[in-house]
Order: sequence, then structure tokens, then C-alpha cells
Amino acid sequence: MQDLRKYWAARGDWFSSRGREERIKDYIALANQLVWKRQVSLLAAAVLAALYLDAFTIFTYYAVVAISEMLDLYLGYKAKDWDGKNPVMGGRILKRIVLNTAVSGVAISAFTISIAVQQPAVGHFLPLFFLFSAAVFAAMYNSQMMGVLVLRLSIYALAFLYIACLDVMRYLPPLSSPIWLEFFTTIFVLYFICDISMKFYSNYQDRLRQMKLLRDENERTKAALEVKSQFLATVSHELRTPLTSIIGSLELIKADKRQILPDGLKPVIGIAARNGQRLAALIEDLLDLQKLEAGEMAFHFQPLDANELVSEAVDSTAGYAGKLGIEVTTAFCPESCRIAGDHNRLIQVMSNLLSNALKFSHDGGAVHVRVEVINSRVRIAVQDNGVGIPEGAEECVFGKFSQVDSSDVRKVGGTGLGLNITKQIIERHNSTINYVSKLGVGSTFYVEFDRLTAGDGSDNVTDSLAKAA
Ligand code: ADP
Repeated sequence: MQDLRKYWAARGDWFSSRGREERIKDYIALANQLVWKRQVSLLAAAVLAALYLDAFTIFTYYAVVAISEMLDLYLGYKAKDWDGKNPVMGGRILKRIVLNTAVSGVAISAFTISIAVQQPAVGHFLPLFFLFSAAVFAAMYNSQMMGVLVLRLSIYALAFLYIACLDVMRYLPPLSSPIWLEFFTTIFVLYFICDISMKFYSNYQDRLRQMKLLRDENERTKAALEVKSQFLATVSHELRTPLTSIIGSLELIKADKRQILPDGLKPVIGIAARNGQRLAALIEDLLDLQKLEAGEMAFHFQPLDANELVSEAVDSTAGYAGKLGIEVTTAFCPESCRIAGDHNRLIQVMSNLLSNALKFSHDGGAVHVRVEVINSRVRIAVQDNGVGIPEGAEECVFGKFSQVDSSDVRKVGGTGLGLNITKQIIERHNSTINYVSKLGVGSTFYVEFDRLTAGDGSDNVTDSLAKAA
């Protein structure tokens, strides 16, 4: 009763266009998946029956079944590329499904009846069992469309009743005869089939409803993300312009060309300028992150020399390293180490790795950058002997807004975004980033790229990276 209620409740859904297309697509996909399984069981039943009964009749009926199956096969093939959207096409496919179901149902029923007719009284186990499995198969796999399922099961039910009545009509036996026992058993089996069909159907309904809920939830999450991205982009842009002029003015005051700044104010202006720079860095990171997540960051891939890349990045951080009194040494690769990448983005990656290495080094420490070829890969490693990273902190290191030491006593500043952005940029290059580290001893961060060799069509490699990004 409850199943029936669910069925009627679902009918509104059934007739709505979206529901219908979705069901047709599910039906076709499943039919295509199971078609050969069905052929094998049909053939096995025919061979078995042919061994004991008139093989010619059996195979003649089986041929009709096989032809009807071909219709399904053809429909599955034609409809497999249907996008599930065009309702006119959907209507056409549905008509063919109904027609094929009728033809196949009648063919299978005729096949089983032909077996039953050849058998003596009481003992129609083979045809009844065959019909039973065909009905259960339909109940399990045709529950996407109630109408189609009902059509097939009705045809099978008529065949069931015909086989059940066959001996009753032939022999008109007394009620105590086993012929009647077989008759009532068949009726019971019919009821059982109706019951499980309803169960399968309501399960399918539940699945559809859950999928719809998930889809709606997904849409809502996407919309919220979109709003967040827009908000972030607008706020960051609006902050960046005035902040640039504030920083510019503070730097001008700090420079104090006319020597008019009172001594007491100098440290305050210095702090304000530094904080302004930090804020600007945070805004740049937020903008990059938003662009990466929205897939709006443009990449211009080209063949690059890893040695040159490293040399340029090291030069650009020389001022910061000098301020901290840290020596940066390099070991370049003696052979060709060309990679495909976006120059500016990879400089950004290297600068982040270098500035982290410098930032987390002890005063007077050393940073070493190595470029090497390992098999068909080019590896760039940035090694420091600074504070190190504890074991199992990968999520903090590469996460968003996360820092391994986020306590108030933390000496160095940062947004916790740099390595997350770096990782995303590296992944757009089809490359990898990782690190090894020991707490208190130091860390080595390394990125690995595919090496471009002379035989590589650089254009092909950069094109395929551009597509992937
Ligand atoms: P931040 O702006 O905090 O530097 P990152 O995303 O660049 O953000 O780094 C995330 C965290 O990873 C850092 O806060 C730090 O805890 C850790 N980390 C990154 N590089 C190093 C390094 N070379 N040595 C020690 N810790 C590091």
C-alpha cells in the first residue's frame, strides 16, 4: 500500500519532461550494459530446452526472440549518444522502447509457451522458471519507467496464466490434483513478482529523489562560491588602488628627503609602511587565489631554461637575502634543462619558495638552490637549514590560510596562502611540488617538471599544457 502511495506520488515527476528524459537515459544505459547478459541466458535456456524437446520448434521460437532482441540492441546503439535533453528525440526513443518491449515480451512469452505446450502435465518448471527470471530481470532493471515495466509484466502475466491454465483446460482435473497445486503456485508467484516490482520501482524513485536533492545542493554551493569569489574580487580590487597610494605616500614620508620628519615619528611611519606592504601582499594573494579558483588565471606557456629561471629568481630576492644576512648559493645543471612553463608564474613560484626559505632561516643561515636532471624530469630544489617543519604538517603547509606555527610568538609574518597558490600553479603545469624537512634542521622544497628534449615538439607540449590549464 505504501509502495502504491509512493508510486502515485512519483507520477507527477514521471510525467515532467526532465524526469522522463532522465529515466529514458537511465533505461538505455542499463539496457546497453545488460544486453549481452540477457542474450547468454536466453541462449542457455533454448539449448537446455532443445536437448529434451523438439529442437526445431524451440530454435524457431528462439530465433524470433533473438530478432526482437536485435531491435533493442539497435535502439541502444542509436540512442547511446543522445544528450538526454532534446524532448522530441526523447519522445521518439520512448515510443521505440514501448514497441520493442511489446515485441520482446510477446516473443519471450511465445517461446516459453511453446516449451510448455510440448511438455506433459505437471512439470512446467523450465518455462515457468524462465518466465519468472525474465520477470524478475525486468522488475530489477526496467524500474525507470513504470509504464514500460507494467506492459512487459502484463504480457508475462498472460503467459504465466496461459501455462498455468494449460493443464487445467487439457485434463479438467479434480481439485485434489497436483495440476491445481501448480496452478495456485503460479498465481502466488505472480503476486510475488508484482510485489518485488513495486519495491524496485520505489527504490528507484528514492534514488532519483536523492539525486535531485544532491543536484540542488550542488547548485546552491556553486552559487554561494560564485558570490564569494565576486565579493573577494571586488573588495580586493577596491582595496588595492587606495592602498597603493597610501604605501607610496608612506614611503615618501619615510624617505624624508627634506629632513623634516620628527625622530619620534620615524619608527611609527616605518611600521605603517611595513604593514601596508603586508596588506598589499595579502590582497595580491587573494586576487591570485580567486583567479585560480575561477579558472581565470591566464597562462602563457613557452619553452624555458630552468637555469635561467632560477638565476633570475635568485637575483630578484638578493635584496631581501642581504637584509637578513643570508647567503644564497646556486648549483646549475650542466646539461640542457628546458621545461615548458609560464615565465612570470614560475618566477612567482620560485620567489615564494626562496622567500620562505629565507624567512624561516636563522640569522646568518644559508640557502642553496639546485637545478638537476633526474631521468626525464628537471628538478629545482630550494634547501635551507632553518626552523624545519614537523612531520605530518603537509596539509598546513599547502593549505589555504594555514601556517605550521600560527601562534602569537611566531617571528615571521605571512598570509598562509603562498604555497597553496604555488601548488595550484605547479599543478597547472602538470608538474609536482613536495618537500622533505626535519624540525630544527631545515627543509628542502622541490618542484619537478617534464624535461623538454630536442625531439619534443615544443609547440605541442606548450599547446597541451595550455589546454590542460
Ligand atoms: P606564509 O605566508 O605563512 O609563508 P606559505 O603558504 O608560503 O605561507 O607557507 C605555509 C607554511 O608552511 C608557513 O607558514 C610555514 O609554517 C611553512 N613553511 C613553508 N616554507 C617553509 C620553510 N622553508 N621552512 C619552514 N617552514 C616553512
